[in-house]
Amino acid sequence: MSPVPQTSLNTGTTIPQLGFGVYQIEPEQTVEAVSTALEVGYRHIDTAQMYQNEAQVGEAVETFGRSEVFITSKLNNGFHRPDDARRAFDETLTKLRSDSVDLFLIHWPLPTLYDGDFVSTWRVLTELLSDGRAKAVGVSNFQVPHLERLAAETDVVPAVNQVEVHPYLTNEAVRAYGLEHGIVTEAWSPIAQGAVLDDPVITGIAEQVGRTPAQVVLRWHVQRGDVVFPKSTTPARIRENFALFDFELDEDAMSAVSGLDRGEDGRTGPNPDVFDYLPD
Ligand code: NAD
Repeated sequence: MSPVPQTSLNTGTTIPQLGFGVYQIEPEQTVEAVSTALEVGYRHIDTAQMYQNEAQVGEAVETFGRSEVFITSKLNNGFHRPDDARRAFDETLTKLRSDSVDLFLIHWPLPTLYDGDFVSTWRVLTELLSDGRAKAVGVSNFQVPHLERLAAETDVVPAVNQVEVHPYLTNEAVRAYGLEHGIVTEAWSPIAQGAVLDDPVITGIAEQVGRTPAQVVLRWHVQRGDVVFPKSTTPARIRENFALFDFELDEDAMSAVSGLDRGEDGRTGPNPDVFDYLPD
């Protein structure tokens, strides 16, 4: 029995609340890192076309057993036009060595590109949902107005919205919209790529509960109900980040961590309202 809780999606399916992220893992390191994570007990891998390691995720998962593992991938920024999106999705399935993906996301809304049209891209994802090749579809880095626009112009509510969330950017408005509309929030860079781990509030709680700073922060996410997938290539850390289900943070600790929020100043990644990066 896995200790990892399952979070319900609006499709009727579920997603393991803790997964393994593979952003910035080199293709040559990916098979080993994912295999280690699967041995440790992770059953959810978060990749993307942009990460250029889908093929290696596919290889590791095929060896382990595809049906055991929940895989997410994401549409790259250069492929928002409907025909490009369909083609890019076909390539994702080929690389993942699978006839379906568990969750497929629009990686960024890119509201300043494509004449501001991410709705026709979203309609393509809904086709993939209808034909069963994506078991669930969602978005990433969507702000509230972007979500409102999908709601106004289409009939399919995203299953998830994957956004930057950590103690320095608690991102409450986006999370609240998700909660209200049945959209699960996935917290990317859950430990702010390590930047929150030296914070005295975090290290103080870690000392109190006898856990590491990373475990405290990841446990905070879990208790808030968000889905997380920390990244590491170090086996000891991959194990450490999985050991979250045999302790709890009390209310004081939870609110102390939430109190670290710096709003927009806490953002470590790009602002989705202006991000317009197109990979070569
Ligand atoms: P993260 O917050 O998971 O931090 C990862 C870094 O923290 C590692 O490189 C390592 O240096 C360090 N680390 C990991 N475990 C540690 C531990 N136990 N102790 C000390 N240091 C530790 O950052 P991330 O990789 O940016 O985010 C996680 C995942 O979120 C990504 O792999 C990716 O799947 C996803 N993501 C999505 C988007 C998006 O736009 N949708 C953007 C960024 C990340």
